[in-house]
Amino acid sequence: MEDKTYSIAPGIHMGILTPDLLETIAKVSRKHNIPIVKITSAQRLAFIGMKDEIKKEVWQELGFRLEPSTKLGVHYVQACPGKPWCKFGLLDSMPLGKKTEDAFLGKPMPAKTKIGISGCPHNCCESYLRDVGVFGKKSGWSFVFGGNGGRKPRIGDLIATKLTDNEVMDLTKRCLDYYASNARKKERTARFIDRIGIDEFKKKVMCINQY
Ligand code: SF4
Repeated sequence: MEDKTYSIAPGIHMGILTPDLLETIAKVSRKHNIPIVKITSAQRLAFIGMKDEIKKEVWQELGFRLEPSTKLGVHYVQACPGKPWCKFGLLDSMPLGKKTEDAFLGKPMPAKTKIGISGCPHNCCESYLRDVGVFGKKSGWSFVFGGNGGRKPRIGDLIATKLTDNEVMDLTKRCLDYYASNARKKERTARFIDRIGIDEFKKKVMCINQY
């Protein structure tokens, strides 16, 4: 189709934009007359409405790593501003988000997997609707597994409370490892938990009395 247009959607790590990145985005968008630049719910920047032939050039000029948004694995880690920046913040979500992103982003999984870390129970990162969701309370981090939005939404199950940063990292690894080894191909965590049951999952991923 002659009028068909294309988009690219590079991920923005931790959703953090720098002045340099903003200038580059403005320069490239103006140069190529890109009609729509939009932030997606997955913390990607969508450059929409390009001719196919300029796609690669735009991507190179933006300087992003090529990261397909469709592969099966950990797609993104969201973290809200958290304690030092938000008046409601109880815990510091961005450093935990950075550690989580460094450890798990891109890790292969049976299906797309999303992680949301919120600095307080207001849950601006929709932690109850993420495959792995974490939110801060005065007593420590609460940990949720198996949530998702989409066509068949599921509220994740709260499986641990009062965690430290290191305990969140450890429990995230246990949960994702168990899910990766036992879920069916393309089975999201929500459907996986529906199938095996949250009690069975907790038995497998948590040492008794550890959390
Ligand atoms: S979740 Fe809490 S700390 Fe994070 S942005 Fe929302 S209100 Fe602020």
